[in-house]
Amino acid sequence: MMPLTQQRCKILTVDDTPSNLLALQSVLDHKDYELIEASSGEAALEILFQDQDFALILMDVQMPGMNGFETVSFIKSRPQCASIPVIFLTAINKEKNHIDQGYESGAIDFVTKPYDPVFLQAKVAAFIEIYTVHKQLKLEIIQREEVSRQLDLASRVFEHAGEGIMITNTAMVIETINPAFEEITGYSIQETVGKTPGLLSSGRHSAGFYQAMWDEINAKGNWEGEICNRRKNGETYQEWLKIVAVKNKAGEVINYIGSFSDITAHTSARQRLYHLAHYDNVTELPNRVLFNDVLEHELSNARRRKSILAVFFMDLDHFKDINDTLGHAAGDELLKEVSKRLLFCKRDNDLVARQGGDEFTGVMVDLKHAEDAAIVAKRMLSLLAAPITLGTDTVHISASIGLSIFPNDGEDVASLTSKADTAMYHAKEAGRNNFQFHTEQMYQDSIQRIELESNLRNAIKHNEFELYYQPQIDAKSKNIIGMETLIRWNQPDMGMVSPADFIPLAEETGLIVPIGEWVLRTACQQAKVWQDKGFPTLLLSVNLSSHQFRKKEFMQMLHAALHDSGLPAEQLQLELTERIIMHEDDFTIARLQKIHDLGIHLSIDDFGTGYSSMSYLKRFPLNELKIDKSFVDDVCEDGDDRVIVAAMINLAHALNLSVIAEGVEQKNQLDWLECNGCDAIQGYYFSRPLAVDAFEALMLQQQ
Ligand code: C2E
Ligand code: CA
Ligand code: CA
Repeated sequence: MMPLTQQRCKILTVDDTPSNLLALQSVLDHKDYELIEASSGEAALEILFQDQDFALILMDVQMPGMNGFETVSFIKSRPQCASIPVIFLTAINKEKNHIDQGYESGAIDFVTKPYDPVFLQAKVAAFIEIYTVHKQLKLEIIQREEVSRQLDLASRVFEHAGEGIMITNTAMVIETINPAFEEITGYSIQETVGKTPGLLSSGRHSAGFYQAMWDEINAKGNWEGEICNRRKNGETYQEWLKIVAVKNKAGEVINYIGSFSDITAHTSARQRLYHLAHYDNVTELPNRVLFNDVLEHELSNARRRKSILAVFFMDLDHFKDINDTLGHAAGDELLKEVSKRLLFCKRDNDLVARQGGDEFTGVMVDLKHAEDAAIVAKRMLSLLAAPITLGTDTVHISASIGLSIFPNDGEDVASLTSKADTAMYHAKEAGRNNFQFHTEQMYQDSIQRIELESNLRNAIKHNEFELYYQPQIDAKSKNIIGMETLIRWNQPDMGMVSPADFIPLAEETGLIVPIGEWVLRTACQQAKVWQDKGFPTLLLSVNLSSHQFRKKEFMQMLHAALHDSGLPAEQLQLELTERIIMHEDDFTIARLQKIHDLGIHLSIDDFGTGYSSMSYLKRFPLNELKIDKSFVDDVCEDGDDRVIVAAMINLAHALNLSVIAEGVEQKNQLDWLECNGCDAIQGYYFSRPLAVDAFEALMLQQQ
């Protein structure tokens, strides 16, 4: 039982004779009692009117004015004080029927005067005890009622809440849900209890997202945020979720309560607002605001990655005429068609936006060369040139495009945009339907590059390639032991184009694959022809680009080149760049092993210039290291290079590889290399790369 407050129990004593009241005071002098005195029935009522908190009333019967019976009758008729027990104090012999009258009026006991003080004390003590117990019980009932009222309230809230609520145990098993949960998710209580909240997962959030959420719940006891879940009907929805960990008195988590509201409608309204503010409503392209944001963002990316980025500014030529003659609706249609075509030209991560009117802007990211922007711009112009049908009319449109380049032309949104804009005016001045870079030189370079690329595409078809062969000689005997195949491009307009100029472009455009195949097949045939003519057997070296090596069809092509030419595999060597072997993955190892198993030799070209670790030398089945020309150049002057080259030779020999030095131009280089154990030599000192006839002549001369 809850202890009562340490208040003394109040007893109301009512008597018109002051000496009687005094006597009661001395008899009932007790630390637990407080006596309140009334000298008449009326006075007693007045006191009770103010305060009903009495444990007992001791009431004289005979009093002037209201007597004891009348007073008690009145008290008992008032609900506020009806329950206070009353003991009459009366001289019994004066009125015989007092007792009956007393009980009728509502008293519960009688004490006759003169009374025995001990008897009165015992009686009062008994009543006070009953009163105390009664009061305690009443208090508990009130408390219990309050708890049940609160529980009732909580369950009503739970039942009628607009928010979905679920309660799980610590193992995340759902113990209960409310009707709103059923309504929002579509899952009934039967389908939910015993499952985990994973039931609702949309799969849109990463494991990291949930991890962070639980980290926060474990640390702070709660979490709230936006989350995407899935309803029973498969539809996803946005909810605002709050999770609270419920703890017991010992501080241990016993339950989790998750409450959420469906904010899909709110979110889509927000998205609509965002869309309105960031997109153009005619073309649905990003508008100027979003363009600026994206450009800003891409600039910081480009700065970090040290990559090249281009901004374009495009204006349609004579758009106003179309608008004026065919009307605004036709003008809008035209803008939509233009935007479709621009989107078609752009690469995945590029942006095309509408600046307003007939002006479009865009960002091209991650360019290898500034000139690549020109390729895209050119594609835009040619796509725009196709006729456009507007209702019954067919119109032709062209555009002027200005390009600016980060970092060359500027570092920030404003300067790059304004420079692209200026370049666009130059394009207009230059007669429209063209593009211009902000920098003239860049324009010239880009034109050249575009020309080079389109010429390269036709080079095989037009038979413009030719193979040269550079002899490789044994350092000691000075006999030719092999030759490296080097491609030459005789372009009718441009003359001889160095492979250093077109091989990188061929690699970027993927043209290296057909070109490389042509080289391999032609070289194998040539080597076979020489063999058939009775020349000594030489090892044929062919350069291999990593693009070729990684192609699915490469092995098949390699087989075919050997098979079709009839050249034994043992007479072929592939020169690999370090770029190929820097990937020490299963694919690379397996493919190299297959090539090796065929009997083909493998050489590492340009050794020492790459970024790979030395470990691949052990892991891959190699035959030869080719020391790069840059080390050979200084081998007689630079002490460091000498040490490096000597180390390379030792390393190769330790790994059972032979070593060849390329770019040997001088006698003293040859001598030093021979002296230091280099096995073979290639370079102008012995011979430049030679066309077929010249190479044949050299071999004849050697014989
Ligand atoms: P690379 O594989 O390092 O070829 C050696 C280059 O050095 C050749 O230039 C060769 O002519 C040149 N060279 C040889 N000896 C000397 C010398 O003593 N002094 C000087 N200054 N140069 C010498 P080239 O033919 O211009 O080829 C350049 C690069 O183009 C080659 O470098 C190779 O990476 C690539 N390449 C050439 N032909 C092909 C090919 O058929 N396929 C592939 N994938 N790449 C090729
Ligand atoms: Ca080479
Ligand atoms: Ca080389």
